[in-house]
Amino acid sequence: MARDPAFPPLDLPDFAAGSVWLVGAGPGDPGLLSLLALHALQHADTVVYDALVDPRILQLARPGAALDYAGKRGGKPSPLQPDITQRLIRLARAGQRVLRLKGGDPFVFGRGGEEIEALRQANVAFSVIPGITAGLGAAAQFEVPLTFRNEALRITFLTAHKARDAQAVDWSTLTDTKMTIVVYMGMTAAPSVRAGLVAAGRSPQTPVGVFARVTRTDAQAVVGTLDRLPDLVAGIDGGPAILIIGDVVAHSAPARHLELTQLASYFQVAAE
Ligand code: SAH
Repeated sequence: MARDPAFPPLDLPDFAAGSVWLVGAGPGDPGLLSLLALHALQHADTVVYDALVDPRILQLARPGAALDYAGKRGGKPSPLQPDITQRLIRLARAGQRVLRLKGGDPFVFGRGGEEIEALRQANVAFSVIPGITAGLGAAAQFEVPLTFRNEALRITFLTAHKARDAQAVDWSTLTDTKMTIVVYMGMTAAPSVRAGLVAAGRSPQTPVGVFARVTRTDAQAVVGTLDRLPDLVAGIDGGPAILIIGDVVAHSAPARHLELTQLASYFQVAAE
């Protein structure tokens, strides 16, 4: 059969029966799935997925694949991590191709490490397929260059799940003005994030952005300065959201738009 030379055949590995693929689904937009993730969706017998996986991605699963939800449902507590790993092991031992699908990347605040440890102990074969983590999705969608020549030379990915977690963070390591900070699970802890950074010496005027539901159909962004971080979070219509803190946020699309509108209103005032 003649092959289109523009699309050479991909030699994707077999999704073996009795194995688990731990796959990152990215932050939302199905276009951000890797070819391996799509391949896994098309061959899985069971997809064990988390709350953060976009419904559009589940629609790509092989017809007939069982979709098994492992997140919080209707206010019930989420299944315990050991229950989820036991389920993966049981399904794999029953000979299934088990796709463990997680939002973003499995190894970025995704508990993927714990899951592969349990699979190793149980002698279940597995592979890990990376996904685009929410911080990178936010940066691309809203044009935040996480590094910038001479301006931003490193990036920290941080979790601030609760105020308690935020208090556990050593903010003194995050005061470098040439460091971009990407905060996961930081909405409720926003006041503590601000307090910690400002107390450590980071300028209250540092640009910050709150990027919610990134790459989904209802994505939203607000930008401002660190001293206003909790107000910015309050202006968001619900999570999940990523906070990005650092001078590079001034280059983002929403910040540029803000400057233009501020400029426009300034001119309006001047003209009156
Ligand atoms: N493994 C995931 C992170 C899971 S922790 C990843 O790599 O992206 C959950 C946190 O991720 C949320 O509290 C939020 O901070 C972030 N997050 C996940 N999906 C998001 C999205 N679509 N938009 C904004 N933030 C998101």
